[in-house]
Amino acid sequence: MNVTSAELAQPVIELVGASFTYAGPPPVAALHPCNLVVASGDHLAIVGPSGSGKSTLLNILGLLDRPTAGRYLLDGLDTAALREPERTALRGSSIGFVFQAYQLLAHRTALENVAMALMYNGVPRAKRAAIAAEALHRVGLTKRLHTLPSRLSGGEQQRVAIARALAVSPRLLLCDEPTGNLDSTNADGVLDLIAGLHADGMTAVTITHDPAVAARAPRTVTIKDGMLLDPVAAQETAV
Ligand code: ADP
Ligand code: MG
Repeated sequence: MNVTSAELAQPVIELVGASFTYAGPPPVAALHPCNLVVASGDHLAIVGPSGSGKSTLLNILGLLDRPTAGRYLLDGLDTAALREPERTALRGSSIGFVFQAYQLLAHRTALENVAMALMYNGVPRAKRAAIAAEALHRVGLTKRLHTLPSRLSGGEQQRVAIARALAVSPRLLLCDEPTGNLDSTNADGVLDLIAGLHADGMTAVTITHDPAVAARAPRTVTIKDGMLLDPVAAQETAV
């Protein structure tokens, strides 16, 4: 196999026997040892009820926590080897987060909210506005650049949050209950947008308790009581 095809085969996410236990006391084994591979360009939904370990898993995938045991490779890079500043830099440049509650700055316009994410990522001031405007264009908000979040619908606010995530050209989009605060019309719009990004080649993981949201992704794994049930991995083990 030549180098190019090896690189192409490189998954974006690879968990190998990764587990997580909250120290407590008492200790809580929130994620049991699991294997997970997310290929470049894949859109994976992770679905499970409240308390099943979704946020714990998201925190690991998002480099917010380190697995207690096992390994997490992001784009082939073993993240255990990284020091905290390197993890922070990698998080900022490689991962776009979309949260249920948008987490926009209330007194900043849509454009400013997106541009500030670029500032934290070290993009020169002169370039920020153009990149932010392009990201907002991509999510259909060209006409709302200078609008404050309070003047936007929930769906539009989540679009700003998605633009903010996209602005850094992340390797991976991590969505945690992205439609949890939205009515069904706005939710559909946001899910359509995420599906469109995936169609354009974005690698994405959506975490949700809602099977209808998970159904919008081409691949779903279930998490229950801290155990990841990946039908593909189970099949491979069985062979
Ligand atoms: P979900 O996001 O699916 O609701 P979580 O990952 O938040 O689930 O939680 C998984 C398990 O870990 C639950 O039993 C929860 O009570 C526990 N847990 C979450 N955070 C902590 C913490 N900081 N300390 C101890 N236990 C925790
Ligand atoms: Mg959670």
